[in-house]
Amino acid sequence: MRILVIEDEKKVASFIRKGLSEEMYAVDVAGDGELGVQMATETQYDAIILDVMLPKKDGLQVLRELRSSGSATPVLMLTARASTQDRVTGLDLGADDYLTKPFHFEELAARVRSLLRRTSTEKTTMLTCGDLSLDTVTHRAYRGGKEIDLTTKEYSLLEYLIRNKGRVLSRSLIQQHVWSYSFDTESNIIDVYVKRLRGKINDEGKQRLIRSIRGVGYVMREPDTDSDTSEDDDE
Ligand code: CA
Repeated sequence: MRILVIEDEKKVASFIRKGLSEEMYAVDVAGDGELGVQMATETQYDAIILDVMLPKKDGLQVLRELRSSGSATPVLMLTARASTQDRVTGLDLGADDYLTKPFHFEELAARVRSLLRRTSTEKTTMLTCGDLSLDTVTHRAYRGGKEIDLTTKEYSLLEYLIRNKGRVLSRSLIQQHVWSYSFDTESNIIDVYVKRLRGKINDEGKQRLIRSIRGVGYVMREPDTDSDTSEDDDE
């Protein structure tokens, strides 16, 4: 899942970026409101963390522009403890939640997970597909109760696929939601990662959960009772 942090204070921005990266998210930072609007318009982020006090355009203006352009991306606002008015205005403008500064990273992480659950079909912290399960709090994955050892990117990819279970995802959509700008992306990176991930989650004799859709991309599906594998083109 990919998150945009719009915050001009370098220390706070890098503290959030570091923490969220450790929580397996792809993170981009915009240092002012104008750049924030631009980045949020160009890329489909899964959530936005938005500071209110920003140069060029303040956070409330950023929020106003995003919502009036039709963006429904969940927004967590960062406000000063004293400014009740900012919080009220922000919520009325379409912010989904707010956090007052200073805050503990654990709380920010929990609020981000909560925001991501709102847009997901899965409302619990445990995401499942067949006998595969993903704990979004501890970032551990299991198949049939057995833990699977995943790298950060493999986990991010699996989380994105499982959150969008049943939906066919193009390679460019996967890239937008799993990789940040700073990540050097080669043209076949998605295929390489999907292949690696499949190798790790596949269990002998069990149906594969990640299907290839020729010419489009990938889809994660619940295993069905009939053994139709006609969509797979890379067995
Ligand atoms: Ca600020």
